[in-house]
Amino acid sequence: MKIGFIAMSGIRACDTELLELGLTLPGFVERSKQIASLPSLGLLTLAGMTPTHHDIHYIEIPDLSAEDGELERFDLVAISSYSAQINEAYDLALRYRVLGTSVVMGGTHVTALPHEAQKYCSSVILGEGEAVWREVMEDAQKGSLKLIYDARNLNYSLADAPMPAFELLDISKYNRITVQTSRGCPHNCEFCAGSNLISSCYKQKPVGKVLAEIDRVCEIWPHPFIEFADDNSFVNKAYWKQLLPELKKRRIKWFTETDLSVAEDPYLLRMMRDSGCAQVLIGFESPTAAPLNGLEKRANWKRDRFAEYKQAIRTIQSHGITVNGCFIVGLDGQTTAVFDDIYDFVRDAELYEVQITILTPFPGTALYERLKKANRLIEPTNWKKCTLFDLNFRPQNMTADELREGFHGLTKKLYSDVFTQWRRDTFKQNLRTIKKKTPLDKMALAV
Ligand code: SF4
Repeated sequence: MKIGFIAMSGIRACDTELLELGLTLPGFVERSKQIASLPSLGLLTLAGMTPTHHDIHYIEIPDLSAEDGELERFDLVAISSYSAQINEAYDLALRYRVLGTSVVMGGTHVTALPHEAQKYCSSVILGEGEAVWREVMEDAQKGSLKLIYDARNLNYSLADAPMPAFELLDISKYNRITVQTSRGCPHNCEFCAGSNLISSCYKQKPVGKVLAEIDRVCEIWPHPFIEFADDNSFVNKAYWKQLLPELKKRRIKWFTETDLSVAEDPYLLRMMRDSGCAQVLIGFESPTAAPLNGLEKRANWKRDRFAEYKQAIRTIQSHGITVNGCFIVGLDGQTTAVFDDIYDFVRDAELYEVQITILTPFPGTALYERLKKANRLIEPTNWKKCTLFDLNFRPQNMTADELREGFHGLTKKLYSDVFTQWRRDTFKQNLRTIKKKTPLDKMALAV
């Protein structure tokens, strides 16, 4: 069979004023741009486990409206998409079905809303695709695809993970390549639309498999920039203490997402820096403690650590690793004071990088269900608004206009040339000061 693995790519936002701001303030939407320009690891992984006698292709479609020419013909296509582009993915699926092509869809949105997706494609995969992909291949070959492949209770182990088909990528298009070490996150934030939606527990890929993937990437790109496609990397620090010395030998640069517990282990931080860690992204969510209360479904992990936030940032950055701190606007309990509070927090903590987003009720999340029950969703099925930059619910302690205007104002302040340069310069200046200090002073700074 000729099989197309198709990823919907590119960033989306409905708010035109924000889109214009994004063009003039380079730091804004930077992280979204990075995510949008990453290849789809999920599809590359399925491609990697597809029997070799099939003819496989990986394609990215940034904007379907620009693709009105003839579609490349396949016997089977697998489409992956985020919620914000799901309507475009559905349009593409229908166009392929009109051509007589079988279409399989999966991922977090489709897992949350299989009945919606079934209207557009031949088959849906629920949960982790690798667990059922061989069965999908066999059925497709026989011309008898099932309507649903449900992998949610199959306890898929990352010890069985195949080597992603990195060789399908046109390397000139990417400046970061993704490798995954883990799936899931123990914190279970109610708004999280990450891998918790498809993986029922925190699971890790064996160190040897991760290294084999990095070695494969290095065969194609000498000295690549690796983005670990984990939602929360350092849950198991002993695992990373095995992995990091091996990473150091590969002489790569890398980025990952973590919670702030990484700051509690100076030895780990030194190993991270020595192995090429350039930046960690941490979801602080709120610049004040109260809105963190009840954010996680099982515990209050973030609220309980709120008092440590700023010192944790200083500790991590004192090791030469920049922190990209993420804040959400619109959490229950936040008032219009949140916009000044975020700015003050970023300045006081001397954060190198900052990301602000609007609280977004993604389908499948506990947040979506809670806001739906409370009749607080503005357009409950307008998935185009799931961009992280568009408001689609009624905030608790401010009006929708106050939130939008406050978000625009904060964007201008945080990403102004002057403040961005100040954040960059302060990080470098702090590092220079640390380097000048005696070894004893440095130890005090690092802990
Ligand atoms: S800490 Fe981050 S990855 Fe973990 S559940 Fe919360 S939002 Fe998701």
